[in-house]
Amino acid sequence: MEQRTVTETTRDDHLAPAPQLSLKQQKEAFKDGKLVGFHCAGCKLDRLSPMTRCPKCKSPDITTREFSKTGKVVSYTIQSVAAEQFLNEVPFAFALIQLDDGPRVSGLIPWIGKEKDLPIGQKVEYTPSYAAGMRFEKR
Ligand SMILES: [Zn+2]
Repeated sequence: MEQRTVTETTRDDHLAPAPQLSLKQQKEAFKDGKLVGFHCAGCKLDRLSPMTRCPKCKSPDITTREFSKTGKVVSYTIQSVAAEQFLNEVPFAFALIQLDDGPRVSGLIPWIGKEKDLPIGQKVEYTPSYAAGMRFEKR
C-alpha cells in the first residue's frame, strides 16, 4: 500500500477513496453482529445492498457505513411453516424493520405466533445467526 503524508492543509475527506466493501466482507461483518452497508454522500441514502451509483440521485460518491443494530417494526407477516433451516425459530415473523440509524431492512423475528406477540413499533435488535438472512430479536 502506498504511504502518503497527510497534513492539515491537504487533508480533504471528500477526496479519500471510498472503501468499497465486498459481499464477503459484508457477510463477515453481519456474522460479527455489525450491520455494515452503503451510504450516498450526495443525498444521504442508506442501503444494505451494494451500490456503485446511488439509485436515487445517481451520485457515484458511495461510502460504507455501520448502521445501528436496533430498530422498530414497521410491518410483518407471521409464518408458521418454514424451510428446514428455520425450523427452530417457528413460528416467526418476517418483518420490515426501520433501523434507528440506517435504512429499512427485512428480517426474521423468531417465536412470534400471534399479532399480540409483536406490536407495530416494537423495538428489536439485530442478532447474528447461523442461518441465512437477517435475524432480529425483541428488546
Ligand atoms: Zn444519492
